[in-house]
Amino acid sequence: MPATAIVEISTPTTWGRASKAGWDKSIGALLVVAAVPTWLHMNWIALEQYNGSITAALRAALKEGPVSFAYGHFPRYSSQAIAGYAAWLLVQAFFYGYLPGTLCYGQRTPGGHLLTYTANGLLAWVITHVAYIGGSFLGFVDPAIIANHWEGLLVAVNTYGFVLSILAQWKGYFFPSYVEDRKISGSILFDFWAGVELNPRFGKYWDFKFFHNGRPGIVAWTLIDFSWAAYQYQQIGHVTTSMIIVSMFHLIYVVDFFYNEDWYTRTIDISHDHFGFMLAWGDTTFLPCLYTLQTQYLARYPTYLTRTQSLAILAFGLTGYFIFRSANYQRDYVRARDGKCNLWGKPVTFIRCKYSTSDGKEHNSLLLTSGWWGVSRHANYMADLMQAWAMCATCGFTHFLPWSYFFFMSVLLYHRSLRDEKRCHSKYGKNWEEYCKQVPYRIIPGVL
Ligand code: NDP
Repeated sequence: MPATAIVEISTPTTWGRASKAGWDKSIGALLVVAAVPTWLHMNWIALEQYNGSITAALRAALKEGPVSFAYGHFPRYSSQAIAGYAAWLLVQAFFYGYLPGTLCYGQRTPGGHLLTYTANGLLAWVITHVAYIGGSFLGFVDPAIIANHWEGLLVAVNTYGFVLSILAQWKGYFFPSYVEDRKISGSILFDFWAGVELNPRFGKYWDFKFFHNGRPGIVAWTLIDFSWAAYQYQQIGHVTTSMIIVSMFHLIYVVDFFYNEDWYTRTIDISHDHFGFMLAWGDTTFLPCLYTLQTQYLARYPTYLTRTQSLAILAFGLTGYFIFRSANYQRDYVRARDGKCNLWGKPVTFIRCKYSTSDGKEHNSLLLTSGWWGVSRHANYMADLMQAWAMCATCGFTHFLPWSYFFFMSVLLYHRSLRDEKRCHSKYGKNWEEYCKQVPYRIIPGVL
């Protein structure tokens, strides 16, 4: 089949997360819900008490026994941190609810709904950062306040992440916003992990998932970096180049996210993943704690890069960003023009598909086979990994801990590609098989 061929095959099916869960999925959910928060706490313990060595922290845990180790080393709660975090949530919720923004549409849900969102995240991000950074320079706020309260904040965000996940499950069972898009698996554990509702809302517009995925965690990401950079400055009297480079990579990633918030409503998180522990705890707790590990590490254990190392890391990371943005843009660009446009100076090629939703209606879509989507089926994931590699490389190669982000992203994105392809196959059937034939590589062309 030539690369420019257009095949039309209708696939009358719907898609989404598992509808039934047996004991294997329940146990898997339980293990992840127990293991990942423990990992997050172990990182903090390693940074604070074991010179950034996760292996030393693990060895100590084995020697002391898990219960006495947890009692002696786990972070303690602080009422100041709880009050600060509660205020943070309220301020971000206020911004989300009341700041002006662009009205945008998500992807059609399996139940046939086309939901609207108000993209005002960039404005919320700008106001928050101007207030915090401006306040720091004017002397109203200690710029290292987040870093100095990190222990208590870790407890506060964790608690909120768990409470939110329980509330989301309870709402899904008893007060679902869109019954047609709700999934109940028969396993309370699996439902807790994967989520019951696809788009839980307060009223018609206040979207639980959209708010929690973006605002409390991602707005905080760059503030946390800033605070750890200030902490480094207060400790050693200067900010290292490695800290500046990694903070700049994070800044680009976060600003890109908010600048393209409209696009985000059509990604897997918003379009397909249900709102359970994975997203509720993941985005409020895991994201701000794990994704900032490099600045947390550098603030305590500064790394000095040579000029050549700095330039090489910058070049690699920025190339990753360029591919990431360009691949993510191409899909939206071509779909918005129904394939009537050029990419890289040539008319685009694609596979035209039909799919049906559970209300029985048929819809059209297209799978792009040129541009980055013709290079590999997830070139955007490859580009994300390039950025992750560059971010971690700023911390040098002596410790595993600051590389956690790269290893986590590799597992996450590979697993996500498997999940996504399973879902795309059930949505597009033979058209998806045809796409895989035309674009044989999953993530890295020529390798995987
Ligand atoms: P994508 O944006 O890659 O979206 C995948 C969807 O795109 C598929 O489900 C399908 O949806 C559609 N699609 C698949 N193939 C084609 C094609 N050939 N042409 C047109 N549409 C196609 O997925 P993600 O939401 O996972 O990723 C978005 C970005 O976010 C990526 O760059 C990723 O790296 C990044 N990311 C970052 C994370 C982080 O924590 N930092 C976590 C996860 C993702 P449809 O139903 O519309 O056809």
